[in-house]
Amino acid sequence: MPQEVRGVVAKAKGEPVSVETIIIPDPGPGEAVVEIKACGVCHTDLHYREGGINDEFPFLLGHEAAGVVESVGDDVTDVAPGDYVILNWRAVCGSCRSCLKGKPQYCFATHNATQKMTLADGTELSPALGIGAFCDKTLVAAGQCTKVDPAAKPEVAGLLGCGVMAGLGAAMNTGDVGRGDSVAVFGCGGVGDAALEGARLAGASIIIAVDIDDQKLEWAKKFGATHTVNSSKEDAVEKIRELTGGNGVDVAIEAVGLPKTYEQAFYARDLAGTVVLVGVPNPEMKIELPFIEIFGRGGSLKSSWYGDCLPSRDFPMLIDLYLQGRLNLEGFVSETIGIDGVEEAFHKMEQGDVLRSVVVM
Ligand SMILES: [Zn+2]
Ligand SMILES: [Zn+2]
Repeated sequence: MPQEVRGVVAKAKGEPVSVETIIIPDPGPGEAVVEIKACGVCHTDLHYREGGINDEFPFLLGHEAAGVVESVGDDVTDVAPGDYVILNWRAVCGSCRSCLKGKPQYCFATHNATQKMTLADGTELSPALGIGAFCDKTLVAAGQCTKVDPAAKPEVAGLLGCGVMAGLGAAMNTGDVGRGDSVAVFGCGGVGDAALEGARLAGASIIIAVDIDDQKLEWAKKFGATHTVNSSKEDAVEKIRELTGGNGVDVAIEAVGLPKTYEQAFYARDLAGTVVLVGVPNPEMKIELPFIEIFGRGGSLKSSWYGDCLPSRDFPMLIDLYLQGRLNLEGFVSETIGIDGVEEAFHKMEQGDVLRSVVVM
């Protein structure tokens, strides 16, 4: 029997979101219905509402979620009703050219549910990142459910589903930060702070946080920053060189998505170092760099998609580290709110007042 539940919907470009009745079909083959316990508010949700992703309105927002599997379709064997899961947007297919090359973390044909959730009048919803989790229950592909230790609180665990994983993975997976490395992170929002935390977890010895907001730099210290640089007051590249014996960092992580900060990351890096871009640029942006510098500085310029994570490998491991007190996930939760608080949370996010507001169902 299809179920009626509450969900946060963006009906039209730029319009405030509203809580609507939505219809969840029973799971078909390869699908699961998940009862949502908590879901973080991410910039991407706001981006959907503003029409910045595509114009397939109405959107069912929310995608950083943890919950409990309620029911599964025929043939689903990896998860079962009652399992505590984090939802991911990288349900790997196992058969695309990247999966076949043994690199499922880049899977080019990830799975989502095939059936549609709808509004009460039958209008099909587009779930954010193929998830849609600001709701009591959602329908996803079973592969989007990653089982983790239920001892981790849902408002904390759910954050691994998107932004925090992107940052942790930018340092640990894409940047391959190792013991004793020096790391600089440009932009200290949720993703940037997670990159700092990832660098700390990976054993980096110098971890430099760069931002233009002193408040954010203060927060960054909770996530492993050993030094902070306010780039509105001093030259970030010079300061980073100074902090690293004149050399620059081994790994420079750009978590803003602006040409200017990318350029700073490019020049703040030591010879043969790595630049990781995890901030998302807009389609109009261009970057100009002296070609000889790209060659002459060597190393690598990489982009990090979703922290190059493999949910089945990374989520349970990171939750275990959190439960052991070795990974600060709690620090990302600025506040918990109700399902009707998403619009207000968008305003706080735009003002930079919060790292994450988390909807608790
Ligand atoms: Zn694949
Ligand atoms: Zn997100």
